[in-house]
Amino acid sequence: MSRTIIIAGNWKMHKTISEGIQFLDALALPTETKQGFEVMLFPSATALCSLSNHRPELSYGIQNIHEEPFGAFTGEISATMAKELATVALVGHSERRHVFMESDQRINLKIRAALQANLRPMLCIGEKLEERQQNKTEEIVLSQLRLGLKGIKITDLKQLMLAYEPVWAIGSGLTASPDQAQTVHALIRRELKNMGITDTPILYGGSVKPDNAHALLLQPDIDGLLIGGASLQAQNFSDIIALALELLS
Ligand code: PEP
Repeated sequence: MSRTIIIAGNWKMHKTISEGIQFLDALALPTETKQGFEVMLFPSATALCSLSNHRPELSYGIQNIHEEPFGAFTGEISATMAKELATVALVGHSERRHVFMESDQRINLKIRAALQANLRPMLCIGEKLEERQQNKTEEIVLSQLRLGLKGIKITDLKQLMLAYEPVWAIGSGLTASPDQAQTVHALIRRELKNMGITDTPILYGGSVKPDNAHALLLQPDIDGLLIGGASLQAQNFSDIIALALELLS
């Protein structure tokens, strides 16, 4: 399968609907659809409907789903509900793991729920700083990957997307070097292949900015970028999109 580059923005708990529309109006996108290129946004759930109606040529994802299909879970959103507004769901983002204490078991249930609803799960995995310093990156990343996908039929995982996001690089201004990122991406790719899963896009995330995006995208196993802080400014996000487009031409 030929490579598709995905540039995704995770807005976390930022931007109202009107701020999101302002951003979309200022965003520079290619004038025509580019084969092998996708721009994806994860706005707040409250803004998804308005933003996707405003600029339907982008892909939209939800930042979180609940693992149950329905029920007495005040404030939660099921995968089926999310599917009405989005095509992708972030699962296991580092803030969900470390602020909301989501376990690998719960993440596994969320992946199952997303697949059941025909929503593409983007499983986020990555080690903490002390784990890297103790040379445990490989062990942690593989464990999160295996537990996240445990027991799910390979044929059901065709829709899977992955994001490698070292926790120490998220929102910290520290980025994994292109070599460090490539090493972990290649490890993830090998593990997926061993499981019989191929063609899974693997995105890198962690303090990506216009000045480091190009070197990261040049790595053979980095299929795209998941961007937090730098995706909040239309100029920065447009610059990263332009850098990615250069690689296609
Ligand atoms: C993220 O939240 O997924 C992320 C990578 O954030 P930042 O780019 O700000 O590090």
